[in-house]
Amino acid sequence: MTSAVKVYLLLTMCSLNSFAMDIVQKPIIFNQLRLQLSKEYISKHYEQDVDDITIIPRIIVIHWTAIDDLDASFKRFLFPTLPLDRPDIQKASSLNVSTHFMIDTDGTIYQLMPETTMARHVIGLNFSSIGIENVGGQGNKPNLSSAQLQSNKNLILYLTNKYSSINYLIGHSEYTQCENTSLWLEKDKNYRTIKYDPGDDFMKALRSNFNLKTCHD
Ligand SMILES: [Zn+2]
Repeated sequence: MTSAVKVYLLLTMCSLNSFAMDIVQKPIIFNQLRLQLSKEYISKHYEQDVDDITIIPRIIVIHWTAIDDLDASFKRFLFPTLPLDRPDIQKASSLNVSTHFMIDTDGTIYQLMPETTMARHVIGLNFSSIGIENVGGQGNKPNLSSAQLQSNKNLILYLTNKYSSINYLIGHSEYTQCENTSLWLEKDKNYRTIKYDPGDDFMKALRSNFNLKTCHD
């Protein structure tokens, strides 16, 4: 083997390694009820009657859970129906909120549901987005860690390499800026909530690594 071939093989192995993601599977309950409630949500809010709830991901939305503990955060997403302490969004649907990924304070990445199944995590954009939650932000305090920042970078790189359809990256607090884009589907003009996650500094640090669009570009 020539040294040029050896170098080539080494570089190939390195680049493959850089895309090998450590993702821990931690599934939420996604049963018939959750599927049915998801279809009803799509029908009511997006006026689309669908046979399945498979999405084509076009945008990644970054969140914090507003809870500084992994297990307590996970429990918010676990069951198919919304906990009773969410009257602000209960009227819109009893479908529980969910997320595709959740990143713990130490940077561990958990996958809670398949990437191309619709999650309820952001008004107007659920049918085209992948959600990444970060454990933290309790009391709207911007406390996400540098390990979380690095894992968000790695995960976004992995997802954008996997899905060429992804062209946008936003923080949840920016979602209303997408209202005038082709991404937006919500029909109820009065259904909006104010969000602060995951903080401007975190989004700025994250976004500088990618050539992905915001909704105000
Ligand atoms: Zn959020």
